[in-house]
Order: sequence, then C-alpha cells, then structure tokens
Amino acid sequence: MSSWRPEPEPERAAPVTRAPEITTTACRECGAQVAGLNGRYACGVCGWVNPWWEGSNTLPAAEEDPDYPGTAPA
Ligand SMILES: [Zn+2]
Repeated sequence: MSSWRPEPEPERAAPVTRAPEITTTACRECGAQVAGLNGRYACGVCGWVNPWWEGSNTLPAAEEDPDYPGTAPA
C-alpha cells in the first residue's frame, strides 16, 4: 500500500478569458452571410475582409507582444 499522494495542483490565477463574440453580417462585396469573431469578418466566397478598425476588440499594444523588440535584451 503506497502512501503516495498526488501533489495538489498549484493555484493558478484564472486567465482572463473574453469569450469571443460570434456575429454575422452580409458581405459587402457579394452579399453572402459571413460569420465573424469580435466584429471581424472574412468572406469565404469572395475574400472580402472588413477593416481591422471595425473589430470590437481593442488590439493589443506593441509592448504586449512577446516579440516586442523593446523588452528583449539586445
Ligand atoms: Zn463576399
């Protein structure tokens, strides 16, 4: 009989998750119904995409990018 016990999972800060908002719109090029996330759409029929600034999410700043050159030691 083993007295081994699994170590408890360390408490992790719950990740801040924003559930993606799925919306649909009509393609402005061909009129097809297009589903998108967070206000961003890409038409699978004609390739139309709406401009990024029409999305409902605030885009992350460059500093939040893990590859941001300003934070890495040279
Ligand atoms: Zn289209």
